[in-house]
Amino acid sequence: MQPVKKVVVLGGGSAGFLAAITLKKRIPLFDVSVIHSSKIPIIGVGEGSTFTMPQYLHGYLGVDPKAFHQIVKPTYKLGIKFLWGPRDHFIYTFNAQLDTRRQNLPKPNGYYCADEFKFGEINAALMAQDRAFEKQDDHGPRVNTDVAYHLENKPFVEFLERVALEVGVEIVDDTVKDVSVGEEGVSALHLESGQSVSADLFIDCSGFRSELLGKALEEPYIDFSSSLFSDRAIAGGWTREDEPLKPYTTAETMDAGWAWQIEHDHLINRGYVYSSAFLSDDEAEAEFRKKNPKVEDTRVIKFGSGSYRRSWVKNVVALGNASGFVEPLEATSLAIICEHSAKLVQTLADNDLSIHPSGRKYYNQTVRTNWDAIRRFLALHYKYNTRYDTPYWQACWNDTDLAGAEELVEYYTESGPGTMWAHLAMGANDPFGWEGYLVMLVGQQVANQRNYQPAEQETKEWQAYVDSLEKRASNSFTMREALDIIRSDQWLWRPDFYSNASPWGR
Ligand SMILES: Cc1cc2nc3c(=O)[nH]c(=O)nc-3n(C[C@H](O)[C@H](O)[C@H](O)COP(=O)(O)OP(=O)(O)OC[C@H]3O[C@@H](n4cnc5c(N)ncnc54)[C@H](O)[C@@H]3O)c2cc1C
Repeated sequence: MQPVKKVVVLGGGSAGFLAAITLKKRIPLFDVSVIHSSKIPIIGVGEGSTFTMPQYLHGYLGVDPKAFHQIVKPTYKLGIKFLWGPRDHFIYTFNAQLDTRRQNLPKPNGYYCADEFKFGEINAALMAQDRAFEKQDDHGPRVNTDVAYHLENKPFVEFLERVALEVGVEIVDDTVKDVSVGEEGVSALHLESGQSVSADLFIDCSGFRSELLGKALEEPYIDFSSSLFSDRAIAGGWTREDEPLKPYTTAETMDAGWAWQIEHDHLINRGYVYSSAFLSDDEAEAEFRKKNPKVEDTRVIKFGSGSYRRSWVKNVVALGNASGFVEPLEATSLAIICEHSAKLVQTLADNDLSIHPSGRKYYNQTVRTNWDAIRRFLALHYKYNTRYDTPYWQACWNDTDLAGAEELVEYYTESGPGTMWAHLAMGANDPFGWEGYLVMLVGQQVANQRNYQPAEQETKEWQAYVDSLEKRASNSFTMREALDIIRSDQWLWRPDFYSNASPWGR
């Protein structure tokens, strides 16, 4: 196999630019170009992320956090507040609240949260009080790498485009009209301008159109709709007035789905994800507006949840929505674009920059495992959410295909919120881990056979711990206070702050 030299990325959304920057930065020998069409807009939604995304951007790609904060103005997301299940709410963060045990208690934390589940670690305690970061000795905010960003899609993509140019990626505005396919995969893209473009490797980041993987190479699509019934979103929002800038995404149960609330500097971004089989667009709009009277313009986005069987076929690798998409309940898309981009360059680097069938095979296996893990985890959110008794939620209780999460639920049902063997039942590399499952199972008060009654002393110990977290959180910065400091010229980022945390290396 000849080493790859020329790489063409089709698509200039977040997937296209993240992929192009990754390829060029990590393997400078590559000649990388992005072809995107100003006639085909980017999707323009995708505002939540997970904690691995800032680590990737600043640690692995070396994007300067100072410039990023001053230009893109992200806000921090410490987790998700779920208005979900029978409790008033529960809190999900990127740290261990339940898959851990206090030294002086005999059982893991989940056993003490059956009735009241306030929080089990500091970020959740901060979220409970709409606080963002603790105060350090130097009076600045204690920012850690266990938090994610909320990003406005358009300025984020514009920023990435600038970085791509800076690192030497060529950017072409043109539209692919036709694609030639040969033995090795895609042999040429034929553009509206009359040009034809060939490459050793094509990265398909053309969004839901999946021009190369789905259309040209006709890779089969695996539909997740038996697990995830939603297929539409109404997106809207309003200019922030005196609403506090919350340090988390809110996920709120609706009649036929759920609504997100994502916090930007001057905007509150809301969206209702629903199933068209249960609700018309007009009905969804009416329910959405009733809950959110300040919402300005809205738009309906149609989508399917599912992924292509393989993401890397011959000389085409799809990333982002061109490879697959699951509805945004856990805001996983950006994280998997990053994860899979890193895996791709590492595979190529390992194979002397050539495409080898075994590298491709294991890459595809990893990507498949990720999609399936996300599918089963999201399915769990639907199957056990008993907050509203509507035809949509009844269908979720009765018909949601857990798609592999059954054994984990069985383990929980028999063993309660223990931590002993669940990791085995889960399999390797699940991005949510047993912690994610515990928060959703305990949070939704899914019944288990243990019915543990803690002794009085245990309850006291647990309460003392919760009180101590509450006290720490009460003396902390709000998001607005913390951002003012972080965006100021005086704030300095330690050079190794993100690279030390990056699981992909520097
Ligand atoms: C309702 C909803 C909510 C979401 N929320 C989140 C979230 O909170 N967090 C998250 O991580 N993700 C979220 N996502 C996913 C998000 O859309 C993606 O993470 C991200 O924006 C990646 O998009 P993309 O780059 O794959 O595609 P797009 O943004 O659609 O970009 C496609 C690109 O391909 C180009 N293109 C297509 N066809 C051609 C052609 N023939 N010729 C030339 N160029 C072409 C277009 O010009 C464009 O530049 C959400 C998605 C939806 C639908």
